[in-house]
Amino acid sequence: MIQITMPLNFLGSVYRDMRQALIDMAEMFGLLDRAPEVRDRPGARELRVAGGEIRFDGVAFGYEPGREILRDLSLTVPPGGSVAIVGPSGAGKSTIGRLLFRFYDVTGGQLLIDGQDVRDVTQKSLHAAIGVVPQDTVLFNDTLYYNIAYGRPEATRAEVEAAARAARLHGFVASLPQGYDTVVGERGLKLSGGEKQRVGIARTLLKDPPILLLDEATSALDTETEREIQGALRAMSAGRTVLTIAHRLSTVAEADRIVVLEDGRVAESGTHAELLALGGRYASLWANQEGGEDAA
Ligand code: ATP
Repeated sequence: MIQITMPLNFLGSVYRDMRQALIDMAEMFGLLDRAPEVRDRPGARELRVAGGEIRFDGVAFGYEPGREILRDLSLTVPPGGSVAIVGPSGAGKSTIGRLLFRFYDVTGGQLLIDGQDVRDVTQKSLHAAIGVVPQDTVLFNDTLYYNIAYGRPEATRAEVEAAARAARLHGFVASLPQGYDTVVGERGLKLSGGEKQRVGIARTLLKDPPILLLDEATSALDTETEREIQGALRAMSAGRTVLTIAHRLSTVAEADRIVVLEDGRVAESGTHAELLALGGRYASLWANQEGGEDAA
């Protein structure tokens, strides 16, 4: 767990209007030590989200010249639909999330949200439209209430508790002697991975964004916790456009569509059943993972 003071100081100096999503994104994508490379275009407009369609259209990208990570990547998440990106380690899955958040600009092609190129809209409006649930939610050294309400500080107590309930967190909070006033973080109560993730879900529910970027945990949670988290994520995903960056396969089976990324391109795409029947890369990733988890 990264100390929160560091990112806060860093982000405070860089972003005027810091948002939870930015911190979570920074945490999620290890961008704490990096200054943002992109700025709003002069005259950039506000992003207007209608259905929340995400479209990568022939996208090319590399962090350094001469080494392309994504090449001619095309994929669409329809409004209210869900797509999970899977692929071998280093395939560029997290890179797709970074581009969606416009931490970097594409070097070829276009990335559109409801038909608007993300380079043409303000970053503030872009970040406001996207909720991020990282695998390791950043906690402030403050009360649980503060940590949840951070998703929308002006939320009422009833709204904060409703979000905690929907995130399957309320029961846990209620069991603590000081309830929502319990101080968490480095100098307070240490939360488990699953509890932290539920704080992240509650925050995002309060923020109520039309688009969700989910970073599926690499670390295995116990089955019960995983089931609770999945239930909370499923409830949150209803009616939103969801792009999942999946480092493990265990929870992608439910996505409307699974995209297998390889060599910077879409190698396969389909539902879980279709891809298993295809007997290609996904089927072998699945078979390997099953074996790996059994071994673990
Ligand atoms: P994993 O499942 O292991 O997290 P991934 O598919 O999410 O992998 P990415 O994090 O998108 O992979 O990385 C894709 C490639 O880009 C990797 O080869 C990585 O080394 C490289 N890369 C990532 N970030 C940077 C960076 N800031 N500068 C240069 N190269 C980078």
